[in-house]
Amino acid sequence: MMSKHREDRSALFRELRGVGADLEEQISARDRAGEFSHDAWKRYAELGVQGLLVPRGYGGGGCTPLEYAEVMEELGAACPDNGLLLALGAQILAVQQPVQEFGDDRQRAAYLPGLVSGRSIGAHAMSEPATGSDALALTTTARREGDAYVLDGHKRYVTNGPVADVFVVYATIDSALGFTGVTAFLVERHDAGVRVTPGEEKMGLRTASWGDVALEDCRIPASRRLGAEKQGAKVFARTMAWERALILAPWLGVIRREIDACVGFSRRRRQFGKHIGHFQSVSHRLVDMRMRWEMARLVTRRAAEELAGQGEGILPELCKLYTSEAAVETFRESQQIHGALGYTGGGRIERNLRDALGMTLSSGTSDMQRNIIAGQMGLTWPDREG
Ligand SMILES: Cc1cc2nc3c(=O)[nH]c(=O)nc-3n(C[C@H](O)[C@H](O)[C@H](O)COP(=O)(O)OP(=O)(O)OC[C@H]3O[C@@H](n4cnc5c(N)ncnc54)[C@H](O)[C@@H]3O)c2cc1C
Repeated sequence: MMSKHREDRSALFRELRGVGADLEEQISARDRAGEFSHDAWKRYAELGVQGLLVPRGYGGGGCTPLEYAEVMEELGAACPDNGLLLALGAQILAVQQPVQEFGDDRQRAAYLPGLVSGRSIGAHAMSEPATGSDALALTTTARREGDAYVLDGHKRYVTNGPVADVFVVYATIDSALGFTGVTAFLVERHDAGVRVTPGEEKMGLRTASWGDVALEDCRIPASRRLGAEKQGAKVFARTMAWERALILAPWLGVIRREIDACVGFSRRRRQFGKHIGHFQSVSHRLVDMRMRWEMARLVTRRAAEELAGQGEGILPELCKLYTSEAAVETFRESQQIHGALGYTGGGRIERNLRDALGMTLSSGTSDMQRNIIAGQMGLTWPDREG
């Protein structure tokens, strides 16, 4: 477990490299098939990955957000499966964190040990067919009936949906209240009225499953409300701060590994009698890639530090925006450096480019990160009509 490894990071990193090496052999085939690896999920849980941020009392490692970012960078450097990295982040940051911060003792004891140990999988269900960027305009309803809530609605693009045991679901207790009516709930896969169907095929991040979650007369005990009634917007805002600050932490490792691969290739590949790294168009590209990686790492570390408090600054959004765009740029540049080799189907570069594009959409599009930052700068956001 992580607690054992905190004193011996290099042992943990060695084991992460072992899991990554095994995944390397299967990644092309699993990417084509769109297959999630339950085996790797369990192996990461055994190494304490899912529990990194969870207090030791619930079976976790009790890491700070900064320590989490450092470990996830190494995990990302070792793991070729970006879908799995997204799946891990979705559970850790958007399920475990809200349960930890807004759940009561019984909810924490009921859900965290299973999620940390890999026995169960969590998913975050906010988006709906008609609401994406304007997430808090959701239409899923929760009606109080005695000691229960009855949920009705439809959630879409739920990462981990098809494999999840527990969902954090956002619904409104009174649509006339607008976003102030939004409330969070813990819904279990086997609750009556829950129907999960696999989502459409994705362009990238294909080894993370996603799906639709339909809730029809879904009756859950009132004790499964996460936080207070009408506190859902706050739960969601805090969840987004965690996600935006840390969902791309593994990509710091992915980008670092790609830069190393590009440097190696540029020193081997020869044209016009010289290795291509000799040409400034190539070497300067590599310098820009390195610069973006350093900047992404700095902003991630600052955003992670800010998370340790309750700060509501712009660092999570800056981090999400900058790092996801840096990831796309890295693989576009890598493709140029590798020429036609970078354009071959089923190869590392095209797969990573497809995956990186997805990271500019999940946890809010780049446009929305800019809107939120502009709002924090005293400009015009939110701009919801009516
Ligand atoms: C890989 C992946 C994983 C995901 N996982 C989950 C998950 O686990 N749980 C979940 O609930 N959701 C998930 N999502 C959904 C994700 O949160 C939404 O895709 C995202 O919020 C954007 O919503 P949308 O796709 O409906 O686009 P829309 O909101 O319809 O936006 C369409 C376009 O309009 C732009 N736009 C919209 N409003 C504005 C505005 N005010 N100003 C400027 N531009 C604007 C957007 O930037 C975008 O370019 C996932 C998405 C992806 C791609």
